[in-house]
Amino acid sequence: MHLYGTQSVNERGHLTIGGTDTVDLAHTYGTPLNVYDIALFRERASAFKKTFESMGIRAQVAYASKAFSSIAIYEIAEQQGLSLDVVSGGELFTAVSANFPRNRIHFHGNNKSFTELQYAFDEKIGCIVIDNFSEIELVKEIAESRKESMNVLIRVTPGVEASTHDYITTGQEDSKFGFDLKNGQTDEAFLQLYNHPYINLLGMHCHIGSQIFETDAFRLAAEALMNKMVAWRDNYEFICTVLNLGGGFGIRYTEEDKPLEPSVYVEEMATVVLSMTRSHNYPLPEIWIEPGRSLVGDAGTTLYTAGSSKEVPGIRKYVAVDGGMSDNIRPALYGAKYTAVSANRMNEPHVDKVTIAGKCCESGDKLIEEAQLADPTEGDIIAVFCTGAYGYSMASNYNRLPKPAVVFSENGQHQLVVRRETYEDIVRLDIPLQLVRREERI
Ligand SMILES: *Cc1c(COP(=O)(O)O)cnc(C)c1O
Repeated sequence: MHLYGTQSVNERGHLTIGGTDTVDLAHTYGTPLNVYDIALFRERASAFKKTFESMGIRAQVAYASKAFSSIAIYEIAEQQGLSLDVVSGGELFTAVSANFPRNRIHFHGNNKSFTELQYAFDEKIGCIVIDNFSEIELVKEIAESRKESMNVLIRVTPGVEASTHDYITTGQEDSKFGFDLKNGQTDEAFLQLYNHPYINLLGMHCHIGSQIFETDAFRLAAEALMNKMVAWRDNYEFICTVLNLGGGFGIRYTEEDKPLEPSVYVEEMATVVLSMTRSHNYPLPEIWIEPGRSLVGDAGTTLYTAGSSKEVPGIRKYVAVDGGMSDNIRPALYGAKYTAVSANRMNEPHVDKVTIAGKCCESGDKLIEEAQLADPTEGDIIAVFCTGAYGYSMASNYNRLPKPAVVFSENGQHQLVVRRETYEDIVRLDIPLQLVRREERI
């Protein structure tokens, strides 16, 4: 059994997170419940930042907040000196609501609307990462009409394929994101931006995929972007001051996953940049990175209450929990694997192989195909580990299930940071029928 961060087992044989008994948390706040180990988030954030500092490199570590977006996590990110990636007006609004320093907000996305871009200008955010030619036109139009300048990066697809799940790989040439580095699109974008009076081109961005366990792809991407930067200097006397190498650092969902330390990812990519700037006599740019999953993924645990179970003789036993694909779509969407424990029986042998099923009306709503639990019984608290990234943020109201509550736990203290949805919340956007029935109209 692998425990994460501050997780431990107390004298009652219960799982604790941040010094608090998870069974107590489940009783206090109800289930399903997302519990975040905030000390682990802080530890990861400083590991990324300190590695750059120890190498003498100016850097921004931006929390890619689509992994888990809420006011409270933005406040923690702010406390840790992180920057913030947002990918929509809604995430930007959340950042504004958290009063996140605007100059450390970066705006991503492959189809930012005119309204969203206006909003980014209104808030004078730190940087827009430009994804495509239509966006260049929109950003220019807004900047010119307001006579306001904006920092931008050009997002490129370096044609580096990271070894990860196909659905979440974005570094290939056949990607919906960014300008192709090799077919001339990136240069064309550069020419449209670099000497514009209101556009302050800082440099280049790439994000080559997600849940990546090796550093080759990052090193190749850094090399490809550096080569382009050198070419722009040689041809146009333009110097990039920022090189953004994205996120995608892997975490351990199951024992098959072998993630590297944050410091290793940073060291490897920074070493390439250092050596190439030296050999090309290029001024060292600021390096920006954008971890999402690796900041919040294993800091998050979902607590469920076990309900009904079903034995299919000779085949398997299903144990159903009070959530499922509505609060964690990743198993159904990507075949993502997780591990779980019986949080109220931590000292009992976890030898019962069961399938943990959700309560949604889909046969595919299974959270873990082969979980190992300790004598799972109705009323047990089942903890699924590593649900902090792309769990709550991808949650839906499928089957009109209310979204779970979210709690932060640190140093023996806990706080509700997102309240559980109520049935009233579920119908709050519904409008009862106002049309008159046909026969009544005559
Ligand atoms: C999703 C995303 C990230 C974060 O990816 P993780 O795998 O969660 O680290 C970073 N940058 C961009 C542009 C993204 O779209």
